[in-house]
Amino acid sequence: MLVVMRHGATPDQVAGVARAIEDMGYRARPMPGAQRTAVGLVGNDGRVDESRLVGLEGVLRVIHVTQPYKQVSREWSPEDTVIELPNGVRVGGEDVVIMAGPCAVESREQILETAHRVAAAGATVLRGGAFKPRTSPYSFQGLGEEGLRLLAEAREATGLAVVTEAVEPDGVAMVAEHADIVQVGARNMQNYALLRAVGRAGKPVLLKRGLSATVKELLLAAEYIMIEGNPQIMLCERGVRSFDTHARNLLDLTAVVSIKELSHLPTVADPSHGTGARSKVGPMARAAVAAGADAIILEVHPDPAAAASDGQQSLTLDQFDALMLELDAISGVLGRGIARAPAVVHG
Ligand code: PEP
Ligand code: MN
Repeated sequence: MLVVMRHGATPDQVAGVARAIEDMGYRARPMPGAQRTAVGLVGNDGRVDESRLVGLEGVLRVIHVTQPYKQVSREWSPEDTVIELPNGVRVGGEDVVIMAGPCAVESREQILETAHRVAAAGATVLRGGAFKPRTSPYSFQGLGEEGLRLLAEAREATGLAVVTEAVEPDGVAMVAEHADIVQVGARNMQNYALLRAVGRAGKPVLLKRGLSATVKELLLAAEYIMIEGNPQIMLCERGVRSFDTHARNLLDLTAVVSIKELSHLPTVADPSHGTGARSKVGPMARAAVAAGADAIILEVHPDPAAAASDGQQSLTLDQFDALMLELDAISGVLGRGIARAPAVVHG
């Protein structure tokens, strides 16, 4: 439930509402906003009796959140959440953010070359896994902490922000120390201990939709992160399992639109994992920008044929350059642009 305060309500009146909520045995979340101040009530598992709150001074009205997820819902916050990264890039704002890099960090040369090239082409976030959740335990599992150090070095050299995955609760602190965005992968979307840990890590989170998860389950997973006090969550569509084997996954672009309707959080589309094939990545990246995604995350590798993972869906550096020109043009048609960061060294 949300208690919306009158325009010009005093801090004392807001505090009075928060006190009343706590007295009723719930938790209060004051939310000062540009348009309105509201106080969220959390901790309820059903309808709350509003009679004690509606009469309090400064209260305009009470909104019951009808969805099972609360704080991530549009009802909770009609304004879009914008997440500002340390390099000044804003995810969820007017411009489309491009995140690019290899599936996995493999070597110093590989990550630095890729970082310089994607920065020159207009990306503002570098992706690269240091801990890889692989389907087979015999596949390359990542460089671990050394991979995190190489990502940090690439950030220093280029000004790109870094997104990389944490695969277990105990590993979150180490990843958060080096990353600007902590990724929770598709296979871990319902790993609730991990979700709570990233909720406490104090860094923006990129939460990927599970392979067979509904949008509602994705939003409820985000709620786990949110209730730990971390509102900086990006929701990523990365393709779901389908009956049809024509592609590795089915990139569900309707989900990008649905998530925008149901939630105030920024949306990310991943056409690399969403299609599983290089030839399909460019067209679906273009479609994702057209569908209104706030960010696109792309796998790019200097030599895809030699990649330790996901080479078949990685773009070459030249293909990435060409795609960026198209994404720029498409975002322009929609009155958006590709997000630039003052700190990023362009070539
Ligand atoms: C990845 O981003 O490299 C990855 C493993 O993605 P997902 O969790 O979506 O499979
Ligand atoms: Mn990958």
